[in-house]
Amino acid sequence: MLAGNWKMNLDFISGNKLVEDIVKNLETSQINKNIEIVFSPSYIHLQKVTENIQNYSNLNSSAQDISMHEKGSFTGEISCEMIKSIGAKYTLLGHSERRSNFLESSKILKKKIELALSYNLNVIYCCGETMAQRDSGLFYQVIESQIEDVVFHSASDDISKIVIAYEPVWAIGTGKNANPQQAEDMHQFIRTLISKKFGNNIAENLTILYGGSCNVDNAKDLFSQPNIDGGLIGGASLDVDSFCELYTILCETNI
Ligand code: PEP
Repeated sequence: MLAGNWKMNLDFISGNKLVEDIVKNLETSQINKNIEIVFSPSYIHLQKVTENIQNYSNLNSSAQDISMHEKGSFTGEISCEMIKSIGAKYTLLGHSERRSNFLESSKILKKKIELALSYNLNVIYCCGETMAQRDSGLFYQVIESQIEDVVFHSASDDISKIVIAYEPVWAIGTGKNANPQQAEDMHQFIRTLISKKFGNNIAENLTILYGGSCNVDNAKDLFSQPNIDGGLIGGASLDVDSFCELYTILCETNI
């Protein structure tokens, strides 16, 4: 999977043009139907983007977040029902910018993931340690509790609707990606965690994405790692050529 997180970027017109240009570009190249592309634009774009990609079975759209509440007096919030009603397949949850800027705790994220799954909305669940946590040597414990506190409460049948994105906070938007071995070690750790809890079969089928300053220069080495199943891309997803090149690299490293 290659997922693009646009964050709070692009106005309505330029966002739609970006998707149209990416789709045109992919049509002229070899589309690998086994590799899913997910666009995660702002809510403003979500309906139009979803419409524009509806004829492509391997292209999907995602919200960047959902409300922890089902419906009602929550001004400014967007519900699972609303996201489902426009045909989006995914929501991101637990992005480090939501955890740090909007104080989203594991308790909140547990509620959100339960709600999303109950609406049959697939989830890209982000986890990652800060630089201080990496320096302290406790980073495996940090990731373990981010996954244990939120994902472990899900039913086994629902794990197929969850993608995990490992995004070290120190790598997001910094230009300093985790090196392939650091990323692979963590991805392997995550798969083992899932295997211990839900069994080998579920763990083998789990998609684990790497995110954090992934770009056309470092993607080949990252995507070639056995436990890295694709990328969650921020900055480089806003550029047609970079995003399409990342897709080509992902296809080539997954033949
Ligand atoms: C992200 O925000 O999910 C991300 C990976 O950002 P960037 O690629 O810009 O580091």
